[in-house]
Amino acid sequence: MIDGIDDIRFPETGARLAPYWAAAREGRLLLPQCRTCGALHWYPRSLCPTCLSDDIAWIASPGLGEVMSFSVMRAKTPYVIAYVTIDEGLTMMTNIITETPEAVAIGQRVRLEFVMRSATPVPVFVVV
Ligand SMILES: [Zn+2]
Repeated sequence: MIDGIDDIRFPETGARLAPYWAAAREGRLLLPQCRTCGALHWYPRSLCPTCLSDDIAWIASPGLGEVMSFSVMRAKTPYVIAYVTIDEGLTMMTNIITETPEAVAIGQRVRLEFVMRSATPVPVFVVV
């Protein structure tokens, strides 16, 4: 039994992820990096998914990347759900925020922004 594992929820909001949430509320992206094995991981969590260490450092990221895959959801207001691979090599499931969903393309350069949804900063991307 790992100490504190009963408290782990998604998204985690406990003290171990406080640096991530504080930065997100300021519009800055911090990536979790394991101090034991060096692996970056996404989504943020207090245990490294590679080696299960709980020794996590926070690395500032400019949040730049490219569209790996996407789909335009044809709702009343169309929206784009996508996988974006940021320059650090992590892939995120996200939304591309755009007025022109039909213009989104694989390989397009994008930049992360946080939008507030139910009082939670959620990472989305815009075309650069
Ligand atoms: Zn690790």
